[in-house]
Amino acid sequence: MVHRVSHLFWEVVPVEEAATGCYRCSHCRSVFHINLRSVCPAYGCPGRLEPLDVRAPGWVQNHYRHLYQHMQTIPFSAQEHTAQWTSSEASKVQERFIQGEINALSCSTTFELGVDVGELQAVLMRNVPPTTANYVQRAGRAGRRTDSAAFALTYAQRRSHDLTHYARPERIVAGKIRPPSVVVSNEKIVRRHMHSVLFAAFFRHAYWEEGRSFRSVGDFFKPDDGITPGPELLREYAARHPTDVLAALQRVVPAPLHAELDIEGWGWLNRLWQGGPRRPSTRYPSWTPPPAR
Ligand SMILES: [Zn+2]
Repeated sequence: MVHRVSHLFWEVVPVEEAATGCYRCSHCRSVFHINLRSVCPAYGCPGRLEPLDVRAPGWVQNHYRHLYQHMQTIPFSAQEHTAQWTSSEASKVQERFIQGEINALSCSTTFELGVDVGELQAVLMRNVPPTTANYVQRAGRAGRRTDSAAFALTYAQRRSHDLTHYARPERIVAGKIRPPSVVVSNEKIVRRHMHSVLFAAFFRHAYWEEGRSFRSVGDFFKPDDGITPGPELLREYAARHPTDVLAALQRVVPAPLHAELDIEGWGWLNRLWQGGPRRPSTRYPSWTPPPAR
Protein backbone atom coordinates (compact mmCIF):
# COMPACT_ATOMS: atom_id res chain seq x y z
CA MET A 1 0.00 0.00 0.00
CA VAL A 2 1.36 3.39 -1.00
CA HIS A 3 0.37 6.69 0.57
CA ARG A 4 1.09 10.10 -0.73
CA VAL A 5 0.96 13.30 1.27
CA SER A 6 -1.60 15.53 -0.35
CA HIS A 7 -0.09 18.79 -1.51
CA LEU A 8 -3.35 20.47 -0.44
CA PHE A 9 -2.25 20.21 3.15
CA TRP A 10 1.16 21.78 2.66
CA GLU A 11 1.56 25.18 4.16
CA VAL A 12 4.39 27.64 3.76
CA VAL A 13 4.93 29.74 6.87
CA PRO A 14 7.53 32.51 6.95
CA VAL A 15 10.04 31.92 9.70
CA GLU A 16 9.39 35.31 11.26
CA GLU A 17 5.67 34.59 11.56
CA ALA A 18 6.28 31.16 12.97
CA ALA A 19 8.26 32.93 15.70
CA THR A 20 10.30 29.88 16.43
CA GLY A 21 13.69 31.45 15.86
CA CYS A 22 16.48 29.99 13.80
CA TYR A 23 19.35 27.69 14.59
CA ARG A 24 22.80 27.41 13.19
CA CYS A 25 24.98 24.34 13.22
CA SER A 26 28.25 24.80 15.11
CA HIS A 27 30.07 22.65 12.57
CA CYS A 28 28.68 23.11 9.04
CA ARG A 29 27.13 26.55 9.71
CA SER A 30 23.90 25.55 8.02
CA VAL A 31 20.81 27.38 9.19
CA PHE A 32 17.60 25.58 10.16
CA HIS A 33 14.36 26.75 11.66
CA ILE A 34 13.56 23.49 13.36
CA ASN A 35 15.57 22.11 16.20
CA LEU A 36 15.22 18.55 17.44
CA ARG A 37 17.50 17.84 20.36
CA SER A 38 20.11 20.14 18.81
CA VAL A 39 21.08 17.49 16.24
CA CYS A 40 22.22 18.93 12.93
CA PRO A 41 19.93 17.55 10.18
CA ALA A 42 22.75 17.71 7.58
CA TYR A 43 23.73 14.15 6.69
CA GLY A 44 26.68 12.90 8.72
CA CYS A 45 27.36 16.27 10.33
CA PRO A 46 28.65 15.97 13.91
CA GLY A 47 27.67 19.59 14.76
CA ARG A 48 25.16 20.85 17.31
CA LEU A 49 22.43 23.38 16.59
CA GLU A 50 22.67 26.65 18.46
CA PRO A 51 20.13 29.46 18.64
CA LEU A 52 20.92 32.09 16.04
CA ASP A 53 21.11 35.73 16.99
CA VAL A 54 19.01 37.44 14.31
CA ARG A 55 20.92 40.70 14.86
CA ALA A 56 24.32 39.12 14.28
CA PRO A 57 26.09 40.48 11.17
CA GLY A 58 26.59 36.94 9.90
CA TRP A 59 22.83 36.58 9.72
CA VAL A 60 21.88 40.08 8.61
CA GLN A 61 24.44 40.06 5.83
CA ASN A 62 23.96 36.43 4.90
CA HIS A 63 24.50 36.19 1.16
CA TYR A 64 21.64 33.82 0.36
CA ARG A 65 19.24 35.59 2.69
CA HIS A 66 20.06 38.84 0.96
CA LEU A 67 19.54 37.32 -2.48
CA TYR A 68 16.27 35.79 -1.43
CA GLN A 69 14.91 38.98 0.07
CA HIS A 70 16.16 41.57 -2.38
CA MET A 71 16.96 40.08 -5.72
CA GLN A 72 14.44 40.25 -8.50
CA THR A 73 13.75 36.74 -9.61
CA ILE A 74 13.40 36.06 -13.31
CA PRO A 75 12.91 32.87 -15.26
CA PHE A 76 16.12 31.57 -16.76
CA SER A 77 16.38 29.99 -20.15
CA ALA A 78 19.51 28.95 -21.98
CA GLN A 79 20.01 28.11 -25.63
CA GLU A 80 22.79 26.67 -27.71
CA HIS A 81 24.48 28.84 -30.31
CA THR A 82 26.89 26.89 -32.46
CA ALA A 83 27.91 26.59 -36.07
CA GLN A 84 25.61 23.58 -36.27
CA TRP A 85 22.57 25.80 -36.51
CA THR A 86 21.36 26.77 -39.91
CA SER A 87 21.84 30.49 -40.37
CA SER A 88 18.12 31.21 -40.15
CA GLU A 89 17.80 29.25 -36.92
CA ALA A 90 20.91 30.92 -35.51
CA SER A 91 19.54 34.38 -36.24
CA LYS A 92 16.27 33.42 -34.55
CA VAL A 93 18.19 32.43 -31.44
CA GLN A 94 20.16 35.69 -31.57
CA GLU A 95 16.98 37.69 -31.93
CA ARG A 96 15.35 35.97 -28.96
CA PHE A 97 18.49 36.60 -26.93
CA ILE A 98 18.45 40.30 -27.79
CA GLN A 99 14.74 40.45 -26.88
CA GLY A 100 15.55 38.93 -23.48
CA GLU A 101 13.54 35.75 -24.05
CA ILE A 102 16.79 33.78 -23.76
CA ASN A 103 19.09 34.73 -20.90
CA ALA A 104 22.11 32.63 -21.66
CA LEU A 105 23.75 31.47 -24.84
CA SER A 106 25.99 28.45 -24.79
CA CYS A 107 28.42 29.10 -27.59
CA SER A 108 31.20 27.49 -29.50
CA THR A 109 34.17 29.61 -30.48
CA THR A 110 32.54 30.48 -33.81
CA PHE A 111 30.69 33.03 -31.71
CA GLU A 112 33.85 35.11 -31.61
CA LEU A 113 33.30 36.46 -35.06
CA GLY A 114 30.45 38.04 -36.85
CA VAL A 115 27.70 37.46 -34.32
CA ASP A 116 26.08 40.59 -33.04
CA VAL A 117 23.94 40.16 -29.98
CA GLY A 118 24.72 43.55 -28.55
CA GLU A 119 25.75 43.99 -24.98
CA LEU A 120 26.55 40.99 -22.81
CA GLN A 121 26.47 41.24 -19.05
CA ALA A 122 28.74 38.31 -18.44
CA VAL A 123 31.00 35.97 -20.32
CA LEU A 124 31.93 32.59 -18.94
CA MET A 125 34.73 30.74 -20.65
CA ARG A 126 34.87 27.03 -19.98
CA ASN A 127 38.58 26.89 -20.67
CA VAL A 128 41.48 29.28 -21.05
CA PRO A 129 41.51 30.63 -24.63
CA PRO A 130 44.61 29.78 -26.69
CA THR A 131 46.01 33.29 -26.98
CA THR A 132 45.54 36.80 -25.67
CA ALA A 133 43.83 37.73 -28.93
CA ASN A 134 41.16 35.04 -28.37
CA TYR A 135 40.80 36.04 -24.76
CA VAL A 136 40.26 39.69 -25.57
CA GLN A 137 37.84 38.76 -28.33
CA ARG A 138 35.74 36.64 -25.99
CA ALA A 139 35.94 38.52 -22.72
CA GLY A 140 35.56 41.80 -24.56
CA ARG A 141 32.01 40.92 -25.49
CA ALA A 142 30.87 41.88 -22.01
CA GLY A 143 30.41 45.36 -20.61
CA ARG A 144 31.11 47.56 -23.61
CA ARG A 145 28.90 50.25 -22.20
CA THR A 146 30.01 52.16 -19.15
CA ASP A 147 26.71 51.87 -17.29
CA SER A 148 27.03 48.17 -16.66
CA ALA A 149 29.67 46.14 -14.90
CA ALA A 150 31.37 43.55 -17.04
CA PHE A 151 31.88 40.11 -15.67
CA ALA A 152 34.25 37.71 -17.35
CA LEU A 153 34.94 34.38 -15.70
CA THR A 154 37.45 31.90 -17.03
CA TYR A 155 37.33 28.33 -15.91
CA ALA A 156 40.80 26.80 -15.90
CA GLN A 157 40.75 23.08 -16.54
CA ARG A 158 43.30 20.63 -15.25
CA ARG A 159 45.59 20.74 -18.22
CA SER A 160 48.91 22.29 -18.93
CA HIS A 161 47.81 25.32 -20.93
CA ASP A 162 45.04 26.27 -18.52
CA LEU A 163 47.11 25.72 -15.40
CA THR A 164 50.01 27.76 -16.78
CA HIS A 165 47.76 30.75 -17.30
CA TYR A 166 45.93 30.14 -14.05
CA ALA A 167 49.25 30.59 -12.26
CA ARG A 168 49.97 33.85 -14.10
CA PRO A 169 46.67 35.21 -15.41
CA GLU A 170 48.17 38.55 -16.45
CA ARG A 171 49.87 36.85 -19.37
CA ILE A 172 46.59 35.94 -21.02
CA VAL A 173 44.71 39.06 -19.95
CA ALA A 174 47.33 41.63 -20.87
CA GLY A 175 49.62 39.66 -23.11
CA LYS A 176 50.92 40.66 -26.50
CA ILE A 177 48.75 40.34 -29.57
CA ARG A 178 50.64 39.53 -32.71
CA PRO A 179 49.28 41.46 -35.65
CA PRO A 180 48.25 39.23 -38.51
CA SER A 181 50.93 39.08 -41.16
CA VAL A 182 51.40 37.79 -44.67
CA VAL A 183 54.85 36.85 -45.91
CA VAL A 184 55.03 38.50 -49.33
CA SER A 185 57.84 36.23 -50.40
CA ASN A 186 55.70 33.14 -49.88
CA GLU A 187 56.15 31.29 -53.14
CA LYS A 188 52.68 29.74 -53.17
CA ILE A 189 51.00 33.10 -52.72
CA VAL A 190 53.28 34.74 -55.27
CA ARG A 191 52.46 32.05 -57.83
CA ARG A 192 48.76 32.69 -57.41
CA HIS A 193 49.33 36.38 -57.99
CA MET A 194 51.36 35.61 -61.10
CA HIS A 195 48.59 33.42 -62.44
CA SER A 196 46.06 36.15 -61.83
CA VAL A 197 48.25 38.64 -63.68
CA LEU A 198 48.43 36.28 -66.64
CA PHE A 199 44.71 35.58 -66.59
CA ALA A 200 43.83 39.27 -66.38
CA ALA A 201 46.07 40.07 -69.35
CA PHE A 202 44.69 37.08 -71.24
CA PHE A 203 41.06 38.06 -70.69
CA ARG A 204 41.78 41.56 -71.97
CA HIS A 205 43.61 40.12 -74.97
CA ALA A 206 40.85 37.60 -75.70
CA TYR A 207 38.22 40.32 -75.58
CA TRP A 208 39.99 42.93 -77.69
CA GLU A 209 41.87 40.72 -80.14
CA GLU A 210 39.67 37.64 -80.46
CA GLY A 211 36.27 39.01 -79.52
CA ARG A 212 35.92 36.33 -76.86
CA SER A 213 34.67 36.79 -73.34
CA PHE A 214 34.28 34.17 -70.63
CA ARG A 215 31.39 34.78 -68.27
CA SER A 216 31.97 31.67 -66.16
CA VAL A 217 34.43 28.88 -65.49
CA GLY A 218 32.17 26.67 -67.56
CA ASP A 219 32.42 29.11 -70.48
CA PHE A 220 36.18 28.97 -70.25
CA PHE A 221 36.53 25.21 -70.20
CA LYS A 222 33.63 24.36 -72.50
CA PRO A 223 34.84 22.46 -75.56
CA ASP A 224 33.05 24.09 -78.44
CA ASP A 225 33.07 22.84 -82.01
CA GLY A 226 34.74 25.27 -84.32
CA ILE A 227 35.97 27.60 -81.59
CA THR A 228 39.26 27.22 -79.79
CA PRO A 229 38.47 26.40 -76.14
CA GLY A 230 39.62 28.85 -73.46
CA PRO A 231 42.52 26.82 -72.05
CA GLU A 232 44.04 26.35 -75.46
CA LEU A 233 43.66 30.02 -76.24
CA LEU A 234 45.38 30.85 -72.95
CA ARG A 235 48.20 28.50 -73.76
CA GLU A 236 48.75 30.05 -77.14
CA TYR A 237 48.69 33.49 -75.60
CA ALA A 238 51.23 32.56 -72.93
CA ALA A 239 53.48 30.86 -75.46
CA ARG A 240 54.00 34.25 -77.10
CA HIS A 241 55.56 35.50 -73.83
CA PRO A 242 53.73 38.83 -73.87
CA THR A 243 56.03 41.66 -72.85
CA ASP A 244 53.42 43.51 -70.78
CA VAL A 245 52.84 40.41 -68.63
CA LEU A 246 56.59 39.99 -68.14
CA ALA A 247 56.94 43.65 -67.16
CA ALA A 248 54.04 43.34 -64.70
CA LEU A 249 55.55 40.22 -63.11
CA GLN A 250 58.97 41.83 -62.78
CA ARG A 251 57.27 44.70 -61.00
CA VAL A 252 55.02 42.77 -58.56
CA VAL A 253 57.10 39.68 -57.72
CA PRO A 254 59.65 40.22 -54.93
CA ALA A 255 63.15 40.36 -56.46
CA PRO A 256 64.60 37.38 -54.53
CA LEU A 257 62.02 35.10 -56.17
CA HIS A 258 62.71 36.17 -59.77
CA ALA A 259 65.40 33.55 -60.34
CA GLU A 260 63.65 30.79 -58.38
CA LEU A 261 60.44 31.16 -60.39
CA ASP A 262 62.34 31.77 -63.62
CA ILE A 263 60.32 34.81 -64.53
CA GLU A 264 62.58 35.98 -67.37
CA GLY A 265 62.66 32.48 -68.89
CA TRP A 266 58.91 31.90 -68.35
CA GLY A 267 59.77 28.67 -66.53
CA TRP A 268 56.98 29.32 -64.03
CA LEU A 269 54.42 28.42 -66.67
CA ASN A 270 55.30 24.72 -66.45
CA ARG A 271 53.76 24.49 -63.02
CA LEU A 272 50.65 26.29 -64.21
CA TRP A 273 50.07 23.74 -66.96
CA GLN A 274 50.80 20.87 -64.61
CA GLY A 275 48.26 22.11 -62.13
CA GLY A 276 50.79 22.83 -59.42
CA PRO A 277 51.73 20.70 -56.42
CA ARG A 278 48.16 20.10 -55.29
CA ARG A 279 46.69 16.68 -55.66
CA PRO A 280 44.46 16.53 -58.72
CA SER A 281 40.82 16.90 -57.91
CA THR A 282 38.61 13.94 -58.71
CA ARG A 283 35.61 16.17 -59.20
CA TYR A 284 37.33 18.57 -61.58
CA PRO A 285 39.90 16.63 -63.61
CA SER A 286 42.79 18.83 -64.61
CA TRP A 287 42.76 20.08 -68.15
CA THR A 288 45.20 18.37 -70.50
CA PRO A 289 46.17 20.21 -73.62
CA PRO A 290 45.23 18.61 -76.91
CA PRO A 291 48.08 17.40 -79.11
CA ALA A 292 49.70 20.16 -81.11
CA ARG A 293 48.10 20.74 -84.46
ZN1 LIG B 1 25.93 20.69 10.68
